[in-house]
Amino acid sequence: MKIILFGPPGAGKGTQAKKIETKYNIPQLSTGEMFRAAIRNQSPLGVKVKTILDQGRLVPDETVVDLVAEALDRPEYSEGYILDGFPRTVPQAEAFDSLLEKKGASLDAFLMLKVSEAELVNRILSRGEGRSDDNPEKVKIRLDVYNKETAPVLAYYDKKGLVSYIDGFGTIDEIFSRIEKALGKS
Ligand code: AMP
Repeated sequence: MKIILFGPPGAGKGTQAKKIETKYNIPQLSTGEMFRAAIRNQSPLGVKVKTILDQGRLVPDETVVDLVAEALDRPEYSEGYILDGFPRTVPQAEAFDSLLEKKGASLDAFLMLKVSEAELVNRILSRGEGRSDDNPEKVKIRLDVYNKETAPVLAYYDKKGLVSYIDGFGTIDEIFSRIEKALGKS
């Protein structure tokens, strides 16, 4: 099964992606985590993207698409995957579509986690993961970037009739059971 887990920063994508991974035995691919690992390891990619992540801006499409294309060629993703944090712009969504097409594959589900903006800010500022971009100033930038550059990705998939809207308010388990229902239907 190939799933895109979508939503604004702080919607709980990472947490829910890990639960889907465990229950359905599908590996998660988080571009944000890949970038954070590259920064920790001080790899050339890490050096290139560190300032961008610190500032809450987006890594250039080409860099992200190359990274995802390379990762999805690995055997562990051959049966399916959950994408968390990708695609984040319409050009990334288009590039992902042509990647799927080349492989003769298709997307099974696009899950949109809906959470109000006030709740997002609360969650991010209280999650205490020590991320350099989890402070009030950077959260505002990340939400602005989401609204301007990432929200159009939702319309892109909506036009294809692929979107399942998930109420992202409630406990982790309540939200997960909504996801299970949505996946049951897809
Ligand atoms: P996340 O963990 O998904 O919140 O991502 C953290 C940061 O990594 C973002 O604020 C961006 O700087 C960068 N990032 C992650 N995924 C992408 C993407 N698909 N396109 C561009 N930048 C990304």
